[in-house]
Amino acid sequence: MEKREGLIIVHTGNGKGKTTASLGLGLRAWGQGFKVLILQFIKGNWKYGELKAAEALGPNFVMRQMGEGFVRNANEDAMAEHCHAAEEALTMARKEILAKQWDMIILDEINYAIKFGVISLAAVLELLDAKPTELHLVLTGRDVRPEIIDKADLVTEMKEIKHPYKKGIKAQKGIEF
Ligand code: ATP
Ligand code: MG
Repeated sequence: MEKREGLIIVHTGNGKGKTTASLGLGLRAWGQGFKVLILQFIKGNWKYGELKAAEALGPNFVMRQMGEGFVRNANEDAMAEHCHAAEEALTMARKEILAKQWDMIILDEINYAIKFGVISLAAVLELLDAKPTELHLVLTGRDVRPEIIDKADLVTEMKEIKHPYKKGIKAQKGIEF
């Protein structure tokens, strides 16, 4: 069999489609018999549609949400919860990347978590350097850092031309959730 060249793939930009394109890659990979893991760096970003689909696809297409079982108390604001979830996601990402059990790992909104300082750029760069050769690693989120672009093999910028929100059209089922 041909040896796989695991890629570092980035979806960034201000247009819609970063997460959905990564799910599309995941679907294609799953169809090839690959094991796909998707980790969430910003709580609540995934919607019912994709979570339902993942359930139906079974154990080779796993979406793992962080911050579960994290008890919210009155003093904790949303940001603290995001921080906690992102830290947990980074720890999980490190463990799963090094475990070599997955063919593709998607780190959804990791760029956003770096941007808001909830995880460090240095830690993410270290992770990219430690990536097993055969693993395809996908990073999504606006405002990707240039240091990550340097290490990536494939970088796509989604650019907003139009978005229905601008016209006041509300979120549509099957498109947004
Ligand atoms: P999607 O999950 O639909 O692929 P995304 O990952 O590219 O979107 P995010 O930055 O994660 O976008 O933002 C998620 C939410 O913000 C989605 O509901 C998406 O429709 C909305 N969004 C994305 N781009 C824009 C935009 N240019 N204007 C308004 N809303 C946007
Ligand atoms: Mg997204």
